[in-house]
Amino acid sequence: MLNQEYSIKIAHLYPNLLNIYGDFGNIIALKKRLEDRNITCEVINFSVCDDPYEKINECNVFFIGGGQDIQQNEVAKSLKQHKDFFTQKANEGNVFLGICGGYQLMGEYYKPHDMDKQEGLGILDVYTVASSKRFIGNVSVKLKKEIFDGTLVGFENHSGLTYITSEETKAIGDVIVGNGNNGDDKQEGACKNNVFGTYLHGSFLPKNPKFADYLIFQALKTKYQKEIVLPPLDDKIETLTHESLLRFLS
Ligand code: GLN
Repeated sequence: MLNQEYSIKIAHLYPNLLNIYGDFGNIIALKKRLEDRNITCEVINFSVCDDPYEKINECNVFFIGGGQDIQQNEVAKSLKQHKDFFTQKANEGNVFLGICGGYQLMGEYYKPHDMDKQEGLGILDVYTVASSKRFIGNVSVKLKKEIFDGTLVGFENHSGLTYITSEETKAIGDVIVGNGNNGDDKQEGACKNNVFGTYLHGSFLPKNPKFADYLIFQALKTKYQKEIVLPPLDDKIETLTHESLLRFLS
């Protein structure tokens, strides 16, 4: 076990609006992997009527799930009011994880099929435009080595096509099976500093325990300004799930 008291606060952004296909499982996975290492974890729900400086200013991890275009539109209006706050938190090196719709709203904008353009936070240099085609199915990904040598598995369900627009923002991996960002460049997700977006539902983190620990490591490093080696966990089941999905998809 760790020989010092550590704690992490997680902000669950708009859980009543963007929480589709079990995305809440990402919060459960992070909380469990922290508490199993005796790292105190508090989860704070943030909604459209909340003030971020009052409610989530001390948070180290910011999570936003996926959802339908209508709910995304409501969230986009709220995010626009708090753009300076979230930009500052991202620039400080706090961890952000956005899934699908939440990922899209961390970019510059999301243009739905039959709705006005939704302005994003701009903490990822990407934009998304809805297509007439919907990508639905299992996905496997080879992580970019700059993150770590590993793989990701999950489930995608989106009509949005996402494109990276700068050198500072990189894809998180190369698609092995599935569509990923746009079904064309064989790239999946995006990252910039400690901001991560992905199309992988599933839930994502329970099936990708190493990536969950990577996010925890980065959040602790930013908060405590040092690298804290995470004690290994007995996560045979999570690892078996990951590997069996990889085999199933190969
Ligand atoms: N509404 C967005 C799309 O269809 C996001 C969907 C989602 O979050 N699963 O691309």
